[in-house]
Amino acid sequence: MNLRARLIIPGLFFCTSLFSSDIYQSIRIFDPIPEKLRIIGSLGIPLDHINWKRDVFIDLILTKNERIALARKGIESTILINDLSAYYKSNNRSLQSRDFPLGSMQGNYTWDELNSRFDELNLLYPNIISERIIIGQSVEGRDIWAFKVSDNPNLNENEPKVLYTALTHAREPVGMMNLFFFVQRLAETYGVDSELSYLVDNREMWFVPVVNPDGYVFNEEIEPNGGGMHRKNRLETNCGDGTEKGVDINRNFGFDWGLDDVGSVPNPCGSTYRGEIQFSEPETEAVRDLLNNHNFNNVLHYHTFSNLYIHSFGNGSLPDEPELTKITDIGYEMARYNGYTVGNGLATVGYSVNGDAVDWTYGEKNMISFTPEVGSYQQGFWPSEDEIIELCSLQIHPNKIFALVSGPDIILESYQLSQEEITPGDQIVLEIMLKNRGLENSYNDINVNISSQNEYINIQTGSQVISGNIQSQEYYVLATPISISSNAVDGFLADILISIENESVYPRSFTIDLVIGERQTIFFDDFENGTLNWSLSGDWGLVQDTEQGNHSLTDSPDGEYQGGQETIALLIQDIDLSFINSPIIQYKAKWDIEEGWDFVRFQTFIQDLGWVSMGGIYTQTGSGQPAQTFGEQGYDGLQENWIEETIDLAQLNGARLSGFRFIQTSDDFEEGDGFIFDNFSISGFPSGLIGDYNMDSYVNIFDILGIVDQFIYEWEPTQRQIFFCDLDKNGSINIMDLIALSDLIAGL
Ligand SMILES: [Zn+2]
Repeated sequence: MNLRARLIIPGLFFCTSLFSSDIYQSIRIFDPIPEKLRIIGSLGIPLDHINWKRDVFIDLILTKNERIALARKGIESTILINDLSAYYKSNNRSLQSRDFPLGSMQGNYTWDELNSRFDELNLLYPNIISERIIIGQSVEGRDIWAFKVSDNPNLNENEPKVLYTALTHAREPVGMMNLFFFVQRLAETYGVDSELSYLVDNREMWFVPVVNPDGYVFNEEIEPNGGGMHRKNRLETNCGDGTEKGVDINRNFGFDWGLDDVGSVPNPCGSTYRGEIQFSEPETEAVRDLLNNHNFNNVLHYHTFSNLYIHSFGNGSLPDEPELTKITDIGYEMARYNGYTVGNGLATVGYSVNGDAVDWTYGEKNMISFTPEVGSYQQGFWPSEDEIIELCSLQIHPNKIFALVSGPDIILESYQLSQEEITPGDQIVLEIMLKNRGLENSYNDINVNISSQNEYINIQTGSQVISGNIQSQEYYVLATPISISSNAVDGFLADILISIENESVYPRSFTIDLVIGERQTIFFDDFENGTLNWSLSGDWGLVQDTEQGNHSLTDSPDGEYQGGQETIALLIQDIDLSFINSPIIQYKAKWDIEEGWDFVRFQTFIQDLGWVSMGGIYTQTGSGQPAQTFGEQGYDGLQENWIEETIDLAQLNGARLSGFRFIQTSDDFEEGDGFIFDNFSISGFPSGLIGDYNMDSYVNIFDILGIVDQFIYEWEPTQRQIFFCDLDKNGSINIMDLIALSDLIAGL
């Protein structure tokens, strides 16, 4: 009996402790005041992968044990997902991918698979992919290795160097997958894609796909099909053999190491355990030595998830200007198409860290550095297999930009014309501003060529040479007079091509569209005659706002908009833009919409695509939260004063559109005063001849006959016919217009 009890009880203990320490949950804590965040951090619960609604709630991933510890400190929580490993597996949708082979661990490569994947790429593309470069050994003795993509990859050339690392945290495999995806793209398009080929020829791109092989292999052992939740390395820290064991490599770097016990913890079993001393871990040392031995200009340390590019500093402070602008400009360009948020930890998710890789890379080594956090909270550490390729694709542009700016990189920053409207016979001046957005100075002369793509535009000093370099982050302005031929026609689109050539930068060309003629209003509504042009749902209605006439249209005339709704203001007038060049939409607007969570979008309807959200001067990119469709353009935050928004319909690339609307969406928490707009106009440059009723490009007797037919058969004229043949501008074509047109033709 005694013996039996002794045998069973230790077994039971073992099971219980493994059970509760290794079950990971997603929980929500309401009212996340700083004091609560401090307690969460001091328990070693990572605050770097969270879903956060400022002042409302914070969603966290932690172990069952950690949740119990929180409850003991008086912090209550709601469980969102009870067992994350099981959840990831049950939500997985498999995918067969032909172009990019996926791995066997919920689409991710296992340690063995990624090693053979590298061998395969190296064998196929030895001219641009280096041999393995061993940079250290893990606690359990595995090789930590790097490789280089460049021309002459096994030589050290004097080219700007950029580094990408991944899998510092063992449960974040998509960072590693994204590196293989990028490298495969570089290799397969070498000699085909001019920009990527330029990078291979003129940069040294270094990769460390796995910083923490032991932790990753441990996740393979506990969850062979994906879903393993171990984060740290596998150092023996006397916390059993489960996921509590080990040091958090991303708290073990020697910048602000151990600054406080919130951004990292001294408890060896905490998820954010920083180790006995800075750089105590061989994995951290390997990264440190690589950075010490090579002069990288910039480094990305890949993690998942939160859709962020996080820069220094972990303690919440910011780099001084002009450094901060340099860093954020690069971040914003990286986020151009994926809409990721750029900022330090405190600004983006409200937490602080110490001893992390980005701070040491930037703070100590002075290399521009970000932690990309790939994917959303909903996708988590183990996104469904069928989402991996999309997540990787969204990093192609950022990875490319990051390599480009590692050297000098000259772009057309902006341009300006000496007058807003251009008419035939004008003499104007075009001023262009170039910027070296790269981290190195350019060298040698820069040739700038400004050329006209048609006969109506004459560029006077088309070829210009900038003698000497443009320094990193500096601007250069140049100008040329331009004359417009008096034979140019109204509504004509005249393209000007600007090309930049220089030995040290990627050669670029940019097109500027000039439109000749006077912009004309096709449609205008200032709501002084009510809302007859619009079909409204929800609370949309008029409010008095004296600044823009008497009335404006808003989604919430009676105060704040409501939570959990979708409401629409649809323009019900048919607008024919087929004869309008360079159409734009403008409106005055102001708004107060919960930032990052609620949204108002302006959309156009396109056959085959449906409603498409339009980008303007003031739109932001959707965050991916329930009421903000990820990646779409819309309004949120606070805009207290009226602005004039411009939506350039050129972004639709000539697609046929057939409707416009504003759509408002909100989630269940916190509302705002809403969106209000006025003076809605559609304008452009009509192309056509006054009086050309049958649109044959001549004004003659057949146009008169056409109008007579219209009278006889009582046809409805098209908007285009009204636009060009309603000579007395009374809104319809009648006998007076016919007489005026006869006079016009007689006088021709
Ligand atoms: Zn991480």
